[in-house]
Amino acid sequence: MGRRVILKMTLPEPPPPSLRLRIDRQALISNWQTMDALSGSASAGAAVKADGYGLGIDNVMPALLQAGARQFFVAHWGEVPGVLAHAPAHSIAVLHGVRNAQEAAYARATGVLPVINSAEQARVWLDAGGGACHLMVDSGINRLGIAPAQLGVEEVSRLEIDTLLSHLASADEDSELNARQLARFQEASSMIEARSLSLANSAGIALGPDYHFDLTRPGLALYGGIPRRELADSIRQVAHIEAAVLQTRDLEPGETVGYNAIWQARKPTRVATISLGYADGILRSWGDRGALQHDGRNLPIIGRVSMDMIIVDCTNSPLKEGDFCSLSYDLPKASKTAQLSQYELLTLLGSRFDRTVSTD
Ligand SMILES: *Cc1c(COP(=O)(O)O)cnc(C)c1O
Repeated sequence: MGRRVILKMTLPEPPPPSLRLRIDRQALISNWQTMDALSGSASAGAAVKADGYGLGIDNVMPALLQAGARQFFVAHWGEVPGVLAHAPAHSIAVLHGVRNAQEAAYARATGVLPVINSAEQARVWLDAGGGACHLMVDSGINRLGIAPAQLGVEEVSRLEIDTLLSHLASADEDSELNARQLARFQEASSMIEARSLSLANSAGIALGPDYHFDLTRPGLALYGGIPRRELADSIRQVAHIEAAVLQTRDLEPGETVGYNAIWQARKPTRVATISLGYADGILRSWGDRGALQHDGRNLPIIGRVSMDMIIVDCTNSPLKEGDFCSLSYDLPKASKTAQLSQYELLTLLGSRFDRTVSTD
């Protein structure tokens, strides 16, 4: 491996970006405490994968720790350093487990616990020397986790299991699958010796005490998502978006805006170009029905969303260059408007946002 030479840069700090993502710290704290309280005698952990559901790991970890979270879930080993900067290794679990010797060696070197998902992963872990780990049993999502029929294999019996986990496929619906998965998980838990049991994600917590066991794993609801109606009154919006007006112009009837000229003015119209585009995670699906807001007025999105810009109709607004507009990111509503899941709305948010955590 060659030595890497880091050049000392003398560039000044770039000016503040024209798009902002404000993270409401109090709302995040309140949401974790709500999910922890709803977890009854179980304690809530926190899913912080995908850079804290798109909000930035360094932005969400301090608030989650202050709220009381002590168990953190990521998907990839590459996400570990970001969490380790805030929390001890034994409090972090990597959901994808150990796929090979390098991952197992990294787990052992850091002290972070893998979630073992198969007999093969168990073997990889044991071959690397093993140690404390978690075990995911697939109770019916058929995605990731060891099949119940495999729980008796020799490799699994040699694991030092901290938490036995399973994951619900349809907790956000009133599906029969929930009870079936619960029964399979209970059966699995009678076959495995584990220090603790964990089944419920955000929606699963709202299914009631039968689903709570020892540890719950909320993600979405912490960040303002509402996967079940029962949570609607207690979960607060965390992410707030604003973007600057780059330019305004007046259109004559018949003129069109944006790529492919899909929107045409029927009457004299004032339009504004906003610094927000699909590269920031505001996908083209917002174009059909979405709107931005300024000073209490709705500014309908018109024409195609482009990579870096969105055009709005601001005929009825005194909006001017340099002003900031907001894009309502009430997740259940935004999900209907943009035809994207609440999870997608969060994790799509791009790197160009100036992410700030509102101080209390
Ligand atoms: C992402 C994830 C969670 C969190 O789910 P939410 O629906 O966001 O609350 C919990 N457990 C596992 C295994 C996950 O992958």
